[in-house]
Amino acid sequence: MKIIVILGAPGSGKGTVAARLVKTLPLKHVSTGDLLRAAAANADTPLAKSVAETMRKGELVSDEIVGSLVVEQLGKSGAEYEYFLLDGYPRNEKQAAFLEAKLAEGGRKVAKAVWLEVPQEVLVGRLSGRRTCPKCGAGFHVETMKPKVEGVCDACGGALVQRPDDAPENVANRLKVYEAKTASLLGWYEQRGILARVNGVGEADAIAAAVADAIK
Ligand SMILES: [Zn+2]
Repeated sequence: MKIIVILGAPGSGKGTVAARLVKTLPLKHVSTGDLLRAAAANADTPLAKSVAETMRKGELVSDEIVGSLVVEQLGKSGAEYEYFLLDGYPRNEKQAAFLEAKLAEGGRKVAKAVWLEVPQEVLVGRLSGRRTCPKCGAGFHVETMKPKVEGVCDACGGALVQRPDDAPENVANRLKVYEAKTASLLGWYEQRGILARVNGVGEADAIAAAVADAIK
């Protein structure tokens, strides 16, 4: 199984790309958010139990635990998958080093890191135009995915809101924080000769196809 790391700023469309790849490749998409939620809900291994305990206390799950959880998930993944797409981990060089060491114990390594490149001004537009439905969680965009009636959820009729995170004054800061953390991560994978840059602007199917080419 090829281990792929997907990197991209908030608004880069990682989730959309992953959802498409899952349909076209024998690929398992592992987002760390989902992984943590599942571990907390099931608590079916000693590691998952400790995650559940940490999250119940409202504490942050350590880098090491998240990394171990990722590797545990890798071991559980069926042979039907050819690719293991890691989304949301590693987020910085320290986590990348931990993941590398942990994988090496099992004779594995990251095969490719894909960087979904999107210019800052495009990211700002994508993020600040987002609207979500607090009732059902559906997502919309004021330009690219308009609801049928402005400000109203198509699915449940709820009133759409802008998450505080997506307010223009917070978007610039989120992107700055992301960039500061990730710059060194790009260098880390570039040094290992496994970084692939993919243009994240354009039609979603074309972007997913370019990512598929990069990881094959
Ligand atoms: Zn709704």
